[in-house]
Amino acid sequence: MELMDPGVNGTGLMLNVTKLPKEEAKKFQRSLEQREYSSYISSLIPLQRSLPDVRLKGCHSLYTYLNLPETSVIIIFHNEHWSVLLRTIHSIMDNTPPHLIKEIILVDDASTDEVLKEPLEEYVSRFSKVQLLRAESRQGLIRARMMGFEQSTAPVAVFMDAHCECFPGWLEPLVTRIAENQSIITTPNLHGVDSESFKINEWGQRKNLGIPVLTFPNLFFTWSSMSEVERKKRKRETDPVRSPAMVGCVIAVSRSWFKKLGMFDPGLEIWGGENTELSIKTWLCGGGLEIIPCSNVAHMYHPHRPSEENDIRYKRNIARVSNVWLDKYKHFTDNYDGSIADYGDISDRIALRDSLKCHPFEFYLTHVYPDQFIPGNGIYTGPVRNVEVSFHCLDSGGGKHGDSVNILLYSCHGQGSQLWDLTERREIRTGGRCLDSEYGDNVVMRKCNGQRGNQEWHVVSLEGHVLLRSNGYCVGVTKNKSALVLEKCHNSPLQQWTWKQNRKPRIS
Ligand code: UDP
Ligand code: MN
Repeated sequence: MELMDPGVNGTGLMLNVTKLPKEEAKKFQRSLEQREYSSYISSLIPLQRSLPDVRLKGCHSLYTYLNLPETSVIIIFHNEHWSVLLRTIHSIMDNTPPHLIKEIILVDDASTDEVLKEPLEEYVSRFSKVQLLRAESRQGLIRARMMGFEQSTAPVAVFMDAHCECFPGWLEPLVTRIAENQSIITTPNLHGVDSESFKINEWGQRKNLGIPVLTFPNLFFTWSSMSEVERKKRKRETDPVRSPAMVGCVIAVSRSWFKKLGMFDPGLEIWGGENTELSIKTWLCGGGLEIIPCSNVAHMYHPHRPSEENDIRYKRNIARVSNVWLDKYKHFTDNYDGSIADYGDISDRIALRDSLKCHPFEFYLTHVYPDQFIPGNGIYTGPVRNVEVSFHCLDSGGGKHGDSVNILLYSCHGQGSQLWDLTERREIRTGGRCLDSEYGDNVVMRKCNGQRGNQEWHVVSLEGHVLLRSNGYCVGVTKNKSALVLEKCHNSPLQQWTWKQNRKPRIS
């Protein structure tokens, strides 16, 4: 067998911890507790490692023009592990034509780890393009990124988390698109670095490309698939894809556009909300946000240890974003009224929005992403009450069976498990689950798949009542009035429901 460095070509390293000497097993365990990822494993993988070339076929010939603007890469970190941070820096230098990188600016957000002090300074001093700034006190990721941005000078800025690895040819496609249109913010096709084995997990390309979309009420992002409109509009699989939202870990933006948009809201604390703020404002203020399929970067998604303090701070951050940008839709977000946490003064941000003459949020819903799901603002919304058994409602609180959840007929209380929305894709949805007609006469819910099919429902209006119909079958109550059933549609109040119509569909 050939001896190979661990981690080569994006492979991971799995250790059987029970076979490690006691001391080493302890170190392994401690590393997981300290960092929310296995720095122990990372230390065993070289700082420089190759990654496979995952570019789509058409990419190589598309990006040969290299007379592009220079880029400043801004990497902020708070106690990132030495090996993870340096692997990020090396992967940039090893996978980018040198003339495109003006500088790599590291911003230490008040790390306490000793090795990130002088030893780091000494290590990076050998690279003429790398600068190291230190925040005097903890700034949080939003203000730390802006510190780096203020120091940077190139016409394009890339903000990158301190735990990423770049694939060959990652930068050129991002910058090429910005050179064509400077108000487009670009992000790569993101892949994953496994937080325990450091294996690079290639994620979908082509049809399976993941598209971040906004979620309510927390203004976080979730992965979705390309909308039908977007799929039809694109000609080649290498074409940019319009993205309603972003993850935030790798972003390329022109200096002038980022400045014009008022950078990030400096009132956002520590972590979160800045990706949503930037996504919404680039779309509403005349620009856009695109995923460039030929650019590939892997980001290490690591679990965040839950803490009440972080949770409250996050809710405070999103209440700022929501109150500045969402108009009447702010009512569908957490903490919009400041009842969980005071969100501070936002008058500067509102003045900025006014001075830029940005579109109302409605524009986002009609022109950017009509599929946007806002719980509580469906086409039909609220409890779904049976006409014959009028004290009973559809209830999602049934037990789990494999990947599906049974739906109950239950006394109406109109709370959580009885709040349903009809979405633009004609899903009957609560949380992340959708009513699904796949299982014959059993009425179940499954994870929403966005593929219509068994999750597409026609809400047929009938003298003030509605029928819930999918694939020609209707949701009804059994004759003994005890359970739900999916059956042939017939003319009976057992199949009729009352459900509040809330608004017109945005798309047909
Ligand atoms: N970070 C920072 N200061 C903070 C919190 C985070 O500099 O107070 C850095 C962190 O080291 C990372 C980036 O901000 O480089 C994004 O944070 P994280 O990766 O935890 O966010 P995620 O990608 O998990 O959403
Ligand atoms: Mn990250």
